[in-house]
Amino acid sequence: MQSNSYITLDIDWAPDFVIDYVADLFIANKVKATWFVTHKSQAVDKLRDYPDLFELGIHPNFLPNSSHGNTVDEVLDFCMNLVPEAVSMRTHALVQSTLILSRVLQRTPIKYDVSLFLAYHPVLQSVDFFWGANHKLLKRLPYNWEDDFEMEHPQVDWTGKNILNIEGVKVYDFHPIHVYLNCSKFETYLKLKENYPNINSVSREQITSYVENGNGTFVISKITV
Ligand SMILES: [Zn+2]
Repeated sequence: MQSNSYITLDIDWAPDFVIDYVADLFIANKVKATWFVTHKSQAVDKLRDYPDLFELGIHPNFLPNSSHGNTVDEVLDFCMNLVPEAVSMRTHALVQSTLILSRVLQRTPIKYDVSLFLAYHPVLQSVDFFWGANHKLLKRLPYNWEDDFEMEHPQVDWTGKNILNIEGVKVYDFHPIHVYLNCSKFETYLKLKENYPNINSVSREQITSYVENGNGTFVISKITV
């Protein structure tokens, strides 16, 4: 993997066999990654067996009807309970506000936020967010590539050209489900979700017919390893 590349993943309630599949790919290639966790699972617990490769962060869902809770504090408490060791986060659907970030500082040990998406930006640089009487600091680390955003790119390129042509730091965001599906277009995922609204409980057999051949997210995930 290029030395200026960093891999992050939003687990987004993926079933265990999907998480295992991506984890095995990274373990085999000794790829370091930060996994933003959404739920309790055996596959997530297994990631903890590879502390040299994997870091676990939180992926709080602040959208309405969140399974993480009804208030900012409830959501944060739920997520920190899932990953007590977490020092990093990316919010689900990138929901963010000054209120949310200030509560993160007051209520959690989170030090790094990766919720700023600067698509294909050539020069990523961290920025500081500080709040409160003691000026507690949250480092905000932007990222510049996301699998579903590549799917929407007017010149979508699964050889990785859009991001690999950038000389600066690359911070990738993969969703394990898109890697497993080798998703090249968002409709593939939407069709799966239409038939199986609870993605977390979908089985390997049910998902097989949705897996795409050809160039898609799996192909680019291999470029990065
Ligand atoms: Zn998410």
